[in-house]
Amino acid sequence: MPKKKQKKQKNRPQSGPPFLPDEVLSKFVDCPKCGASLQPDFWREFDEPFGPIELKPRDGQRMFAVQQTFTLTCQCETKVEYPLDPRTLEHPVYFFGDEADRHLKGYYLHSYTLIGGTSGPVQDMCDDIEALKRKYIPDIDPRTWRIHVKDMVSGKRRVQNAIYKRFSRESIVEFFEECAHILSQRDKYTWNMHITAPAKEGAKKERGKIEKVVRATAHKALLSQCIYQATKQSLNPQFTLDAGKDIKTFPHIESWSFDTHNESQFYLGFELLSHGNSIAAPELVKPGSHPCLELADVHAFFAANWMFKTSKGERGLMDINKFGEFKYLMIRDGNRCDYHRGTEIPRHYFP
Ligand SMILES: [Zn+2]
Repeated sequence: MPKKKQKKQKNRPQSGPPFLPDEVLSKFVDCPKCGASLQPDFWREFDEPFGPIELKPRDGQRMFAVQQTFTLTCQCETKVEYPLDPRTLEHPVYFFGDEADRHLKGYYLHSYTLIGGTSGPVQDMCDDIEALKRKYIPDIDPRTWRIHVKDMVSGKRRVQNAIYKRFSRESIVEFFEECAHILSQRDKYTWNMHITAPAKEGAKKERGKIEKVVRATAHKALLSQCIYQATKQSLNPQFTLDAGKDIKTFPHIESWSFDTHNESQFYLGFELLSHGNSIAAPELVKPGSHPCLELADVHAFFAANWMFKTSKGERGLMDINKFGEFKYLMIRDGNRCDYHRGTEIPRHYFP
């Protein structure tokens, strides 16, 4: 295998996902000669990309070599191998994301949900949503209207919409509880995740900027978590995200999509995050354009509402545990996050 030449030192890519799981960050190898604990620089840019390298074809067959280890040089000059753990991806796992935000006690609280699953559970969720919409609005093709929680729970906006106004105050609650049930009944087979990113609001003119940073940080943390966990199980993560707001508000994702193909592969950090694979950039689509995006909208909204109300000592519109188990994450500091798998968002995750 050709040894990779070292190029100019460069800072870690700001647009790429910088979140490495603790499992990676806590991994060191010992030098057999002097006993030093070694770890490579994850965000140094290399001359050649990581990932499979094509070898000379043998008997007309294309051959690839996958780099299994990375060679570190200890301060005592001993060469030490650092394992890379590459995996071959076999099946896709789909993730659908949407957000909800709140202002609370001087904080901006970003709530982002990813509904995830392999093709079977995703298809089941789509069928269930379609059947549920048909149950409440039987005479209209369920694929022609979208669930948008914000407009459906507001009495004022509900009456302005030809479909939504057919729900009553009571039936709208039942409808969303049934949406939650679609998720909870298969929580053992899905990859549902949610992240909370609270940030101090700051001065008025800085708020827009702070919110943008918080959203970008939350996305990176969540997507990194998915990429690491999915590729570890030989699954290929594919992201479809709601671009309800102008796509221009997601510049980090646009630049990430560029970097994923053009730069990330030059970093050991991304090689470890993706278990040696190239991951497709997230696709940004119209709100509610997939039934699982509608479910993401439902969860993100009620999670934000539940945190908002709980924080004030009130009852939320729906108890969060009705959605079943999720992997709940929170940004701990600049580039680390905590997570908890359960039916409730831990109380210390929000103000
Ligand atoms: Zn040494």
